[in-house]
Parts: sequence; C-alpha cells; structure tokens
Amino acid sequence: MSRLNMELRYNPLIGDWVIVSGERVKRPWQPEGFCPFCPGSFEVGYGWSALSLDNRYPSLSRKSSKPRGRGFFRVKRAYGVCRVTVETPMHNIDDLNELSLEHMVKVVELIVDEVKELSSDPYVKYVFLFRNKGKEVGVSLTHPHSQIYALPFIPSRIRRELAAARRYWVKSRRCLFCRILLEERRDGSRLIYGNSGFILFMPFYAMWPYEVHIYPIKHLGLLTDLNGEDIVYLADVLRVSTATLNNLFSRSMPYIMVFHQSPVKGGYEYYHLHVEFYPLLSSSNRLKYPAGVEWGCGSFTYDGVPELRASELRRSCIEAISKMCSIQGRVLP
Ligand code: ZN
Ligand code: ZN
Ligand code: FE
Repeated sequence: MSRLNMELRYNPLIGDWVIVSGERVKRPWQPEGFCPFCPGSFEVGYGWSALSLDNRYPSLSRKSSKPRGRGFFRVKRAYGVCRVTVETPMHNIDDLNELSLEHMVKVVELIVDEVKELSSDPYVKYVFLFRNKGKEVGVSLTHPHSQIYALPFIPSRIRRELAAARRYWVKSRRCLFCRILLEERRDGSRLIYGNSGFILFMPFYAMWPYEVHIYPIKHLGLLTDLNGEDIVYLADVLRVSTATLNNLFSRSMPYIMVFHQSPVKGGYEYYHLHVEFYPLLSSSNRLKYPAGVEWGCGSFTYDGVPELRASELRRSCIEAISKMCSIQGRVLP
C-alpha cells in the first residue's frame, strides 16, 4: 500500500477499480453525544447556513502516493478528493424537504461551486455526488449531509450509461435520455412531479421498489451547466422528491441518492445529467435487500407492479406538497 494506506486495485473481470483505503477503518461509528457537523464543533465554526469540508476519513486523497507495482495485478494511485457538504446547521432535520426553498437553493449553489472547483483538477476524471440517508444505509452521522467524490477514473456504471447513450446518439442522432423523458411524458403512468425545469418519475425499468429519477427537461450534461433558474428548479424538485418519499409510509425513508453527470473532461454531448433515488423500503416495515440475484447476477427482481407503486408515490406527492408550506414556515434556514 502507499504512504497514506490507500490505493486503487483493478478488477480485470468486471473492468472497474476498487477504492482500497486503510484510513476508512479508523472511522468512528456514531460518536456518542458529539456531532462534528454541529456549529461550534472543532471543524466547523458558527455563522454558516451550509458548508463543505474535507472528509476526515477519506478513501481518496491528493496526498496519496503511487503504490508499488504488483506484476499482473493493476494498481493505481488513489488520487482524488472526498468532500462532505453539511446542508444545514440544524442537527435534527430529517431530510432536505424540511429546508426552505431559499435554503435549498443555497445548498445546490454550494454543490455546483464544489463540482466546478473539483472539475478543474487536471487529474480528476469524474465528480460523483451522492447522499446516503438512514442507518439502514450505514450512515454513521445523522446530521444532514451529502458527499462528493472526485475520482481519477470514470466508474463502470457511468461508462455503461455513456456507451448506451453514445450508441443511441450515433444511430439516431438524438439523446437517449431525452427520448426516455419523451416516452415517460407521453405515457404518464409513472410521472410524479414536474416543474418548469425538471421531471420526477419512476423509470419504466425501476429496480428498487420506489425508485425515482429526476431529469432536467433541457439537454445538459454537467451540474456546472445549470444556470441560476435551473438551480432553483432543481432545489424545488429535490425538496418535493424527499417529501414524497418521507410521506409515503409516514416514516423517514432511508435511501441512496446519486447524481449522474458527464465525465468532467472531454466531449460527451450525448449524455444527460440526472438524479437517481434508490429508496430502501418496499413497504412500511420491509426493506429491499439486494441479495443473490442482485449481487450475484447484477440483475434486479422487482416484486410488484411499478405503475401501481408510481401511483402511490403520486398520491404521496400530492399530500406532501399540501403540507410543504407549513414545513417551510417551520424550519428556518
Ligand atoms: Zn450535528
Ligand atoms: Zn438529453
Ligand atoms: Fe443514471
């Protein structure tokens, strides 16, 4: 291993890198009675409404050194950055929907600034933004936060989407994502919410019981392509999506939220920015575990009818939106 005890190891069977970090095992599990993200703690001062900081237990680092060669097995320097975005100074907020729209706009602006700054690093190939929520997902700190990884490679999941979008672009001279959006809007049975900038829907091929995606209506590839107006619409749809998921079973929904954007260097005009939510609950008291078929085959089994679940989400969305004014009035930025 390298000096910082981290490296990338290549899996030649799957064609993807594994991020190996000895630093991560030092990570404490939910420190009792102490929160590093609460205002006044050792890392964060006072007087902020949202802020970004380095992950104290990173799996990638600009200070990582080149690992020693291993002959047949490929290794690579774990160059990169792991950042944390603390979305509010308020510790006891359950999710983004409890932040006001104005506050959420600031959060998205902060994220876009971070992405811009990380993308300018010549060794960074991909900037990945995600939000893990709930102890079911293994979240060790409950204070609302999301994370950004600046990666020195394009992850395989993104490469698959890029390849599919490129094939479609070459064949039909149009964007695969724009086409999917057109089909979803035409069909309508899986649509959940839309504003002037974004559409929230359950994809035809949902893998998780209540999986939802957010597509910008405009064809754009990067978070840094969003203008001021787009940012407001994105902030709105993120609040509505999380409100919808949390209202569904009247309990806090554990989920993984990811942003899929273009690689930050080079021309990928055929790719289309989007957000994917993988909510973990399949009913009010059951979790969907990716198990044998999911992990072993890479294929998902979907127990249920996506369109029926989408209509449940739509109902939940209507209820959630009707309650949002009061939530907005209650929580201060
Ligand atoms: Zn806190
Ligand atoms: Zn498109
Ligand atoms: Fe995607």
